[in-house]
Parts: sequence; C-alpha cells; structure tokens
Amino acid sequence: MSGAEKLKIGLVGVGKIAVDQHIPAIRDNPLLELVAGSSRHGGPDGLPIYTSMDEMLARHPEIAAVALCTPPQVRRALAEQAIAAGRHVFLEKPPAATLGEAEALRALAARQGVTLFASWHSRFAPGVAAAAAWMARHRVRSLDVVWKENVRQWHPGQKWIFQPGGMGVFDPGINALSIVTRLLAGPLLVRQADLHIPSNCSAPIQAELRMAGGQGVAVSAAFDFLQTGPQTWSIFAEAEGGARMALHQGGRILELDGQVVADQPEREYAAMYEHFRQLVAAGRSDADFTPLQAVADAFLAGRLHSAAPFVE
Ligand code: NAP
Repeated sequence: MSGAEKLKIGLVGVGKIAVDQHIPAIRDNPLLELVAGSSRHGGPDGLPIYTSMDEMLARHPEIAAVALCTPPQVRRALAEQAIAAGRHVFLEKPPAATLGEAEALRALAARQGVTLFASWHSRFAPGVAAAAAWMARHRVRSLDVVWKENVRQWHPGQKWIFQPGGMGVFDPGINALSIVTRLLAGPLLVRQADLHIPSNCSAPIQAELRMAGGQGVAVSAAFDFLQTGPQTWSIFAEAEGGARMALHQGGRILELDGQVVADQPEREYAAMYEHFRQLVAAGRSDADFTPLQAVADAFLAGRLHSAAPFVE
C-alpha cells in the first residue's frame, strides 16, 4: 500500500470501545476508511454489520486491515484467521489472553508479511511522551501507580472481565503497566503480588504489586475495581534530589513538582490509528508484550486471596 492510499478497515467486536473510540477515530482520519463491522448482536446505524468476521471479509474483500475490539479471550483465534487471510491486524489491549498466544500471533504475522499492532492506548495519552523525557533527565527512585475505579460504573454487564482470561482489575491495570513499561528503560520484574479474587469469579477485583524496574527503580501498583469515591488513574515518580513527576487521568495530565504543566484533550485513538496507518504503509509491526508479561508474572508469583463474591 502506498502512503497516500486509503487503508480500508473492518471492525470486529462492536462493543463499548469500538463505538466510543474506534469508529470516530477511523472516520476522522481522511486516510482511513471504515468499511464494515462484525458483531453477533448488531452495531450502530450506518455501518454494515455481519455476524462473523469471516462473512465480513467474504462480503468485503477490499478490507485490508481489521481492528479486533472483542474481549481478549477470543482475540487470538480471530487474529490468526485474519492474518492467515492476509489482513493487517490492530489488536485492542490486552493483545491476547496469554503471552503464548501473543507470541504466536507475532510469529504468524511475521511469516505472513502483514502488520501486527499490539495497541496500548494509554501510551498515546498526551502527557506520556513528556513524562518519558522527564524520566530520561532524572535519576528516578520510585514509581507508584494508583489505579482505582468502580467496575460497576465503567464495565456494566461485561461478564467476560471476571472470567478466565478476562484479567479482572488488570483489564484497566494493564493500561498503567503499559505506561510504566514505556517510562522505564529495561525490564520490569514482579517481586510480590497480592491478588484478591471474588469467590464467584476467576480474576482479581483488587491487586497490589511490588516490582523492580531497571537502574534500581522501585515500582508499586495498587489496582482497585471497588472504588466508589474519586476515580484515580495516576502514576507518581520521585527522583534523587526530590524532583517529582505525576501523571493523572490515565496520562492526560502531567504534573512536575506539584505544578500542572500539560493538560490537553485526550486523542489516544486518533494517534493510534495514525500510527497503525503508518506501520502498514511502512510494512512494519509494533508488538510489545511487556505489560502483558508483568500481568502474567503477577499471576505466577502472586499470593491469591479469596474475596467476597462480586454481584453487579
Ligand atoms: P464490550 O463492550 O463487552 O464489547 C466487546 C464486544 O465484543 C461485544 O459487544 C461483543 O459483541 C463482542 N464479542 C465477541 N465475542 C465475544 C465474547 N465471547 N464475549 C463477549 N463479547 C464478545 O467490551 P469493551 O469495553 O468494548 O472492551 C473490548 C476490549 O477493548 C477489551 O479488551 C478491553 O480491555 C478493551 N478496551 C476497553 C476500553 C473501555 O473503556 N471499555 C478501553 C480501552 C480498551 P457481540 O456480542 O455483538 O458479538
């Protein structure tokens, strides 16, 4: 595909994120074209919807790329099918339900010569690039993540979140880990994890992690899905000499030494779709699985605690 040709896209799994973010972001980019979608229960007016991805691709062979916006549990099978059919693939986060699945997709995309974009929308939040530049200028001692939201408010009816592979509170928590792994140079090792799993669920509703970043950075994370007061998506950094950096609102607001220095409107999905378009035009992939690795390690190394049943 040449850089000036429109990239024709099909959406798979037309739920909350597809409707809220993917559809407007694709439609706002003059170099992208939203052709159709597939979802078992229909979709918004004005978009042809098919009940399966197969049918969508059969009816619209012009679709060159698919964006997979389903829950993670069904992502690998769909991605595998799309890649085998020669389509470029944009994966919503998390890229798959397991690391093995994600790695298999990377290998398959490379063999087939198509673009694989494992998206992490929080890395495209407006404050994150400047936060990374601040990290590079300082000797950072600690990073503390506080990611607390009300699952009943933000994920109504999304039963898949607490099913195996749904990741529970790591569904939003992995966004914080995607920023942390972007900010840190080098590995992020899980030292200790406490996962609180409701007795009627398969995934945690709360989690606390202690981790170690490269160059001696101590990293902590508190993830909470039962927060009914102020909703918090913040990361705090402290450096030698007392310098401080904080990201709030999932990376939209940047604060240095207590002063807000950037507070811009959120345009994560517009930026991600432009990045995806450029990857396809250049014949490249972008598939970093380190946030998923940290979650997998928390499950491997963590202490599991039984918590009260979750009733929506
Ligand atoms: P959602 O509202 O539940 O939508 C997912 C859609 O996928 C459903 O509408 C469903 O449509 C389809 N689907 C296909 N197979 C399914 C299955 N086995 N079980 C359930 N649904 C299935 O979820 P979402 O919030 O859009 O999240 C989707 C992905 O985007 C997740 O990985 C999530 O982490 C990510 N994400 C979500 C947000 C957010 O704010 N919600 C933000 C960023 C990223 P049909 O029933 O019509 O097939």
